[in-house]
Order: sequence, then C-alpha cells, then structure tokens
Amino acid sequence: MNRLGSVIAAVSTPPGKGGIAVIRISGPGAADITDKVFRPKNEKSLLSHAPRTAVYGDIAGEDGIIDDGLAVYFPAPNSYTGEDTVEISCHGGILLTQLVLEAVFAAGALPAEPGEFTKRAYISGKLGLIKAESVIDLIDAESRESVKLASSQSRGALSGKIDDIYNKMKQLLSSIYAYIDFPDEDLTDVPGSELLSRLSDIRNEVDSLASTWKTGRAVKDGISACIAGKPNVGKSSLLNALLGYDRAIVTDIAGTTRDIVSEKVSLGRASLKLSDTAGIHKAEDIVERIGVDRAVEELEKSELILAVFDGSQPLDSADSEFAFHIGAARKNNPSVRVIAVINKSDLPAVFNDSEIKKLIEDAEIIRLSACSGNVTTLAELIDRMFIDGSLDLSNDAIISNARQYAALIRAREDLDSALKSLKSGFTQDIAGLDVEHAMSNISEIDGLSVSEDIVDDIFHRFCVGK
Ligand code: GDP
Repeated sequence: MNRLGSVIAAVSTPPGKGGIAVIRISGPGAADITDKVFRPKNEKSLLSHAPRTAVYGDIAGEDGIIDDGLAVYFPAPNSYTGEDTVEISCHGGILLTQLVLEAVFAAGALPAEPGEFTKRAYISGKLGLIKAESVIDLIDAESRESVKLASSQSRGALSGKIDDIYNKMKQLLSSIYAYIDFPDEDLTDVPGSELLSRLSDIRNEVDSLASTWKTGRAVKDGISACIAGKPNVGKSSLLNALLGYDRAIVTDIAGTTRDIVSEKVSLGRASLKLSDTAGIHKAEDIVERIGVDRAVEELEKSELILAVFDGSQPLDSADSEFAFHIGAARKNNPSVRVIAVINKSDLPAVFNDSEIKKLIEDAEIIRLSACSGNVTTLAELIDRMFIDGSLDLSNDAIISNARQYAALIRAREDLDSALKSLKSGFTQDIAGLDVEHAMSNISEIDGLSVSEDIVDDIFHRFCVGK
C-alpha cells in the first residue's frame, strides 16, 4: 500500500514516564486530524493560529478530555518531514500518552513505521541519505566523539564533499565526450594529458575520502579488541582499568575468567569493543578448556589484540605458547594489530622489550600498571594506530558506515579502470563509460540513485517516532 498520501502518527519521545511526551502527526491533513482531538482554549481551530506557534488546549479522547497540552502546526514544506506536521506535547504518562495516540488514530491517522518520518523527509527532498543516516548515528551515539562525527555529517560535511566530487566527475565526463567527438579540433580546449591528470586527481580524492573510513569506524562502531595472555598477568585488571570500574573479577587464582567478558568503552577518540578472555594455557578442567579455546578463536576475530605479559616475572613456556597462538591468528587474519602490554610496571622489570620482540614480531610495546588504573599511554597509542590525527571530527568529511565505504570503493575501481583506458590512449569512450559508472556509485552515497531495498533497510534501523 502506498502510505505517502496518508497521515501517520507516533510517540516521538522514548517509552516510559516523563515530564512531557511528544506525539508527532505528519501528512496532508495532519492539522484537520489534530482538530478532532485537540481543542485550543480560545476555541479557535489549530489552523487559524499562526503556524509554528505553540497553542495551549485540551486533548480529548473517546471518553472526553484526558489531558491539556500544547500543539504546534508546521505547514508543508517547512517541517521535518516536508509535509504538514503537528506536534502535540502532553504529560508524559505511559498510559496517558497511549490514550492520546489512540485518539489521533481514531481521528484518522495511521501508526507510523520505524523511521517513517525521516523516510518521508528523505522522499520529499528535505534531507539526503547521508544526513538521514547521521540522524540515526546521533540518536545511537555513545561517545562524545561519535556525537561530533554524526553532528558534522548532519550539517553536511560529507554530503558537500560528495557533491563536489560528483560535479568534478561531471565536468570531466563532458570534456571526455568533447574529446571523443572532436579529437583534432580546436573545440577541445582540454588536451588528453590534462584529462588524465584531472581523472587521476579525482581518483585520489575518492581514495583519500575512502581512507577516512578507518577513523570513522573506530569512532562510531569501535575497534574490536581482545585482551589476552596467560593466566594471572593482569588481563581482568586491564579490562577494569580501561572501563574505569570493576567489571571483571580480579584474583590471583588462575582460571577465574572462564568465558569472554565483553564491553564497549570509549578511549580518547576511538571506541573499543573489548573482550576479556580466559587465560591461554594448557587447562586441565573441561570448562576452563572451553574458555581457552574461545580465547584462541577470539584472537583471530579481533582487529586489535592487547597481548598482556607480567613484566615482574621472567617469560616462560606459557608466554611462548600464548605467542604461538598470536602468530597463528595473524596468519589467518594478517590485518590484526598487536600491542604487547607489559603489565605490573610498578614492580621491578625482569625482562626487556627485545625479548617480547622475539616472541611477537612487529608488536607495539607498552609498559603500564593496570592496578594503578592509568591507561593513558595505551589510549594514546591506540589513537595513533587507528585514528587519522589530521582529521577534524567536527568539520571534515568522514565516511562513517560500510554502505558509504563500499560505494566509494566501487567508484574508485571504476576510476582506476577509466585511467587504464585513457593511458592506453585509444579507448576514451570506454573511459567515459567508467566515469559514468563511478558517478552512479558516488551519487548512491547520498541517495540520488539508490535502490528502494537499500532505502528501506536504512530507515528500518530507526525507532518508531523518528
Ligand atoms: P588475569 O588472570 O590475567 O585476568 O589477572 P588479574 O587481573 O586477575 O590479576 C592477577 C593478579 O595480578 C591479581 O592479584 C592482581 O591484583 C595482580 N595485578 C594485576 N595488575 C597488576 C599490576 O599492575 N601491578 C601489580 N603489582 N599487580 C597486579
């Protein structure tokens, strides 16, 4: 059923008791439907008041007046959805809000689907797909840095950059076609070598935008990291220090952590999806053995391994066995990064960094005392490894989801192929087709040529009422 011509309604504030709740009503005739449930105290209809002003009145349900509150009418196109919209603020009781919403449904509105208000805003051209996604990101943000990132994208940092790249491709395409039509004439003010250099600049711009995804992902989704090591080196203490509170049990009894303990933590600008694993060693106990197997699996699944060693004890065969598992995990997943965390730096050190280097090739090494709770140096190191320090999260165009990244990579491949054709010197028409493909991939990012399935998928990630 095409719902676009219909009026939809939902509670836009979170479920639960609160000072106020907001019911949003959107679609052609939203004010007429509101008139059936909302009675301004001055007895005029809502429509006869100035738009976008708060009007005080009574709210009537099936059994008469149930509350008093405010209604604001936003006529199309000057509303969030771009349609006629009314927002009613009533008292924030759970049942009361439900009764107001039921009255609005009884007056003719349909229950809104998840994300339907924002989807309508997208359809009516009020916002592009990047801005719509940044609205979900703002709502879901769990760290200050991800708020900064989402807010900057909602203000247009990325969509502006995408527009700019698209326009450069368009100009290049018209030059390529002019070149094909009039290769030997003065009409082509652009020589072939210049086409090549412009194409190459655009390709590099797409590539450098794609490279911001590493930072965007570390900030928004978090780096999947695991804390691993033999028993009793201080893995749980490190987890607690990173979290800033006691999440895991710390004892000097080996084998206390038998299953994986997972938490999300923001550490400087990056977030970590952190798992504390069972100590890796030859366990006798069957339950512990399962924990050890899971810990070994976790090494492979992670992007970052915090490999913990006890700096106050000589390295032994258990450390070597643990290092062997890290080597195996790296073979299966070469992109995994390793930081060797030499713990218990409050006690005298009994081995130096070179011994760790022999166990784990190319590991970054850091010494700290998890007990002290000070993990600043580790946080700084992770920041350097995963965040591009030249990026300003509050203002720069940064890729912040896999959909945007995948479209950019496809566009880069198209441009690589166009470059190849131009370099070969005789297939400009093929280069033109490649640039057209690249344009289509780029425009997909902000929703200009995107399939309905992708759009539905994006908006279904929203909550009802947004
Ligand atoms: P896990 O088995 O690797 O998770 O290790 P725990 O975090 O449970 O710690 C094992 C023991 O080492 C406990 O007695 C901790 O108090 C102690 N420990 C952990 N971190 C430090 C540290 O930085 N300095 C010192 N001196 N002891 C620590």
